[in-house]
Amino acid sequence: MSGLWGRLLWPPLAAALMALIIWPVFGPVSALLFFGGFVLLLWLRHAMHLNALICWLRAAPGTEVPEASGVWDDVFSVLYRSGRLRSTHQDELSAVLERFQRAAEAMPDGIIMINEAGQIEWCNPAAEKQFDISNQRDHGQRLSYLVRQAQFTEYLVANNDGEPLVMKSARNTDLTLSIQLVPFGDRQKLLLSRDVTQLERVETMRRDFIANVSHELRTPLTVVGGFLEGFADAEQVNMEQSRRHFQLMLDQTRRMQGLVDDLLTLSRLESNQERISEETVDVKSLIETLHKEAISLSAGRHRLNLEVHTDARLAGNERELRSAFGNLVSNAVRYTPEGGEIVLRWSLKDQEARFCVQDSGIGIESQYISRLTERFYRVDRGRSRETGGTGLGLSIVKHILTRHQGHLEVESTPGKGSTFCACFPIGRVIVPDQPRNR
Ligand code: ADP
Repeated sequence: MSGLWGRLLWPPLAAALMALIIWPVFGPVSALLFFGGFVLLLWLRHAMHLNALICWLRAAPGTEVPEASGVWDDVFSVLYRSGRLRSTHQDELSAVLERFQRAAEAMPDGIIMINEAGQIEWCNPAAEKQFDISNQRDHGQRLSYLVRQAQFTEYLVANNDGEPLVMKSARNTDLTLSIQLVPFGDRQKLLLSRDVTQLERVETMRRDFIANVSHELRTPLTVVGGFLEGFADAEQVNMEQSRRHFQLMLDQTRRMQGLVDDLLTLSRLESNQERISEETVDVKSLIETLHKEAISLSAGRHRLNLEVHTDARLAGNERELRSAFGNLVSNAVRYTPEGGEIVLRWSLKDQEARFCVQDSGIGIESQYISRLTERFYRVDRGRSRETGGTGLGLSIVKHILTRHQGHLEVESTPGKGSTFCACFPIGRVIVPDQPRNR
């Protein structure tokens, strides 16, 4: 008989043996009294230890183990060790849970845990913000009662095999969310939500851009294609008519060429994020050249004046500045009716260097001004096309100025004229015989 059983059985066995020895000497009554007394004492001892065990189990965790002897010493030490082991496991589990909760709270994506009945069990702060719910207040509430959007409710009930739903938030229409339902555990679900507003915006821009480019190319291609078909089908060639058609095809080809050139310039500016290669640009001589070019573009239809108030130079990229300033000048010529006046002005004002082009042209309504630098945005669509515009000029100007830490200022009065100014910070200005104003 080993260990525990041995220690449990030997006291009553020893008492029984003693009673058998007493029996022949003192008689059966004494032997039975002896055995009965011994069993009572044994029972009392077990009762006391049992009571101590119950009190200890009921006491707060960490209470000292009661003194015990014999088999009870083993019982207490086994219970004590398994209790210690369980509390260590519990501590580890709580630490893991706490870490998981902290990680889930730090996630930029929303997480909502919902049970089989669609009730909220837990959600992280990102989900609280995205769905305007509260982890504490809305615990146990049905999610579909709180987010009342038909497509959302349908998505919750449908089995979508992990397919995400992209939807606009009803409470904040600027917010677009991608939502995904992931089953886990015992019929529970995790609802993951991601803010895809920016991605959607980029995707819309990409779609608009492709649609715009295709639209811009379709008209000239249709014209050129139409004439070429005419030539292919013609039995006789009328030289006079053909010359006119060639001229029209040439115009449309130039238009496509202009569009492709502007697109390539924009793409180069957008993809070239690194610092521009800088040189000292002699702005005075640059705008004198632009003035001459404007005179030839205007072909005598406008009065073109040049005002150079400073001989300051600019630290920048001459090719890019030429392109930006050239765009402003050619716009002024294109959007100013015959007989109008255009002034090219280079000056230093209010800690800024400014190249301004002022015209007495058609002007722009104030509500359109903030959109002028958007790609393909045109106020006067017809005039832009007629004069070979691509709708990309001011977008290119904005990019170039931003790369030079500058900005574009526009003032305009419909019917009276506009002033477009390219403004540069004083840090880019180099005044001859003076160091650069850093
Ligand atoms: P576009 O090639 O069409 O001229 P831009 O990006 O250069 O494209 O200009 C965008 C729009 O801003 C033009 O279509 C035109 O409606 C308006 N705009 C630009 N410059 C002027 C100006 N000097 N006067 C009036 N409108 C202008």
